[in-house]
Amino acid sequence: MEQIFGKGVSKGVAAGPISFYRRASGVIPRHEVSDTAAELERFRAARETAKEQLAKLYDKALAEAGEDAAMLFEAHQMMLDDLDFVESIEGMIENDRVNAEAAVSDTGAQFAEMFAAMDDSYMQARAADIRDIAARVVGILTGEGESGIVSDMPCIVAADDLAPSETVQLDKALILGFITAGIPAIISAGDALQPEMEGKYAIIDGQTGEAVIEPDDAERERLLKKQAKEKALKELLDQLKGKPNVTKDGRNVMVYCNIGSPADIDAVLQNDGGGIGLFRSEFLYLQGSDYPTEDEQFEAYKTVAERMGGRRVIIRTLDIGADKQADYFHLDKEENPAMGLRAIRICLTRPEVFRTQLRALYRASAYGKIAIMFPMITSVWEVQEIKRICRNIRAELAKEGVPMADKVELGIMIETPAAVMMSAELAREVDFFSVGTNDLTQYLLAMDRQNPNLAPFCDPHHPAVLRAIRQTVESAHQAGCSVGICGELAADEALTEAFLRLGVDELSVAPSRILPLREKIRSLTLG
Ligand code: PEP
Ligand code: MG
Repeated sequence: MEQIFGKGVSKGVAAGPISFYRRASGVIPRHEVSDTAAELERFRAARETAKEQLAKLYDKALAEAGEDAAMLFEAHQMMLDDLDFVESIEGMIENDRVNAEAAVSDTGAQFAEMFAAMDDSYMQARAADIRDIAARVVGILTGEGESGIVSDMPCIVAADDLAPSETVQLDKALILGFITAGIPAIISAGDALQPEMEGKYAIIDGQTGEAVIEPDDAERERLLKKQAKEKALKELLDQLKGKPNVTKDGRNVMVYCNIGSPADIDAVLQNDGGGIGLFRSEFLYLQGSDYPTEDEQFEAYKTVAERMGGRRVIIRTLDIGADKQADYFHLDKEENPAMGLRAIRICLTRPEVFRTQLRALYRASAYGKIAIMFPMITSVWEVQEIKRICRNIRAELAKEGVPMADKVELGIMIETPAAVMMSAELAREVDFFSVGTNDLTQYLLAMDRQNPNLAPFCDPHHPAVLRAIRQTVESAHQAGCSVGICGELAADEALTEAFLRLGVDELSVAPSRILPLREKIRSLTLG
């Protein structure tokens, strides 16, 4: 028996033989060709085959992983049609009499280098795509074929690293562990992962990051027991679908989901989420190289509203800045970005950006139950200014004859100490609060949420955080304003009882946390 340790990233135990992910050798044949026309034909045929493969991969990814994952393959197909790229390869074959493999590989390397040297981080990231495409065409030309696993039975995939395009190509039915979200996964096992392990039976525990190769009886029993327990828990949780989030003594709690893109709605519906408590709209701003248009945003918000079928969808306006940077915003470099021009501060200083998002949100409000939430609020005047802008936008859309919901609730995130201290006044201005415990904790404790060195000091259960929540709830309820929690702490079952005793009305968590939280709520008696 051998044990290796990495970092568990996706909970669960999986057992089966190991299969290493194989890549083509990477050796590029290089020689001079006499018949350049025939060589051009070889290249063109390989390019067509690559496009056919990519079209199939697009369909597969669309069915299995959704549109976002599939778009990668569409982009790859488009790159194969790029005139500069194709002309460079064909020019090398015709003029330099280079064989197709070498021409594709050299052009791929040149283009990748060019992208990697660009200032824009989005364009830099395209370098990996170019390398991926060149490798595919070279693989077809050399006949080494596609990379992948050789196992034809369910296995645990082992690899030094896997590109997104590589994971999507694997047959999910054969993968017990390691790769896609939702199945047990371990990363960063380092040199301990050895090719001699191919085919050996292993058990991995994605929670602890432990992989046991050829386990002895005791280890096998221990881990398989854990696997059986998890399975039983999953079955138990599945039985909770459709049941209310109600304590033993009858207190109803709203349990909503946090999502980052419309693609997450499947998980929300599968896990029986009662609504969306936080839709982080940043994805629209982070995925492209320019501002998303009003129509692009409208489509995204409308999709979410419609798919949630009348359940409440709280969409947060953009929270760019600090840890979430988009180059095209051209924000000044700041000494202290977490306390800099971010979130609502950007919206209030760039009215056009704010206006575009609000128009899209109000337009989408006709298709479901949308509420709008504003991040990083510190002062009452900010909220009054936001409300003034919202009123103007509603009037503008009404004049244009655009349909909108009669009532669109407005709420704010409580994630700065100032917002807690001002919660009584703020509550009179809005319909709801949602406590962002991730930022609130960092600002209350003055501890950067991204600095791992602060782990020994950063107590997420710090009494200061709980007192801040208490004050927020008291102020809110006095003004008839509801209070949710949408930071990580909302899913912390050790605090569920305390939150409900404080009077929190709604908890918004990752879709996978909905049913465990429901179970917790249903086990409580608040008295
Ligand atoms: C928070 O700060 O708790 C929060 C939910 O917002 P984000 O994590 O997106 O900053
Ligand atoms: Mg926040």
